[in-house]
Amino acid sequence: MPQVYDVLVIGGGPGGYTAALYAARANLSVMVLEKLTPGGQMGTTDVIDNYPGFPEGVGGFELALQMQKGAQRFGAQTQLSEVISVELGGTVKQVRTQDGTYQARTVVLASGAHPRELGLSGEQELRGRGVSYCATCDGMFYRGKTVAVVGGGNTAVSDVLYLSRLCQKVYLIHRRDQLRASKVYLDPLQQAENVEFVWDSQVQKLLYGDMLTGVQVRHKKTGELREIPCDGLFVAVGHVPNTELYQGQVELDQAGYVLADETTQTNLPGVFAVGDLRKKPLRQVITAASDGAVAAHFIEEYVSTTLQG
Ligand code: NAP
Repeated sequence: MPQVYDVLVIGGGPGGYTAALYAARANLSVMVLEKLTPGGQMGTTDVIDNYPGFPEGVGGFELALQMQKGAQRFGAQTQLSEVISVELGGTVKQVRTQDGTYQARTVVLASGAHPRELGLSGEQELRGRGVSYCATCDGMFYRGKTVAVVGGGNTAVSDVLYLSRLCQKVYLIHRRDQLRASKVYLDPLQQAENVEFVWDSQVQKLLYGDMLTGVQVRHKKTGELREIPCDGLFVAVGHVPNTELYQGQVELDQAGYVLADETTQTNLPGVFAVGDLRKKPLRQVITAASDGAVAAHFIEEYVSTTLQG
């Protein structure tokens, strides 16, 4: 008979590993299924300054490994395998991966979100040939070169700051004349001498041969077209939740985010949602971790009352 875990966590980011830590520490059997490496989006973040306890900041991947170790210390296991399908109804949930099927009494959906694409012609083909969605992963390939970042949120500005330390020149292309990003980034951004702001502009065409050679932007107020030669384009225009697998089973909002209440419980008994895939007002490492702790608390309650009561 295959093992039926108390808790199966889909996704090894801060939400997933905090749920795993709390649940394992409460003596529940826990398996974390992670597609690639621990950390999720946090794992590709250069420095995290706003997670308490690290006065000098902490590397995203380093923090991810520490979170994984913390959960392991209490017995949570990790399997690196991609989830292919889920059956979340009933008292025993089934989660099918590339390497086999896992069963559990409760499931924590913690699969996060992925970067939104611009939807431009050539964008897919140019991945790895000039178009990137992760500055900390790919920035080093553009050392000494000219790059552009598109977007106006926290991801875009932290990418610009990171790239300004590596690249000769960085353009920040934003569709409005005001950034959405936190004020904390604004001073260092103004001080970075190799950053040029391209306001009120939308990238409307990628210019390329074998590789990206530049972008064409359109000024939204004047309609003026401008070509910006660059070796790399970093797209940072928000995220899309990784919830396709749950469609038709778990209740989602129009944008695809999982609807869960304060307890992180979804519409399905025994299924909890934590981190960036959940509809919520603030998506940060600490709010994902907080969700994980809350989920584990209600999982404990669910397991003891519903299943053993
Ligand atoms: P975001 O805050 O949703 O910002 C997305 C940006 O892209 C916005 O400026 C938006 O413009 C622009 N945009 C959206 N669609 C576009 C399109 N089709 N073409 C051009 N521009 C487009 O997303 P994010 O920066 O990825 O951040 C996601 C979450 O992670 C946020 O909660 C953020 O606070 C968090 N985060 C936090 C940190 C940190 O605290 N250090 C770092 C990274 C991310 P408008 O402004 O005009 O809407």
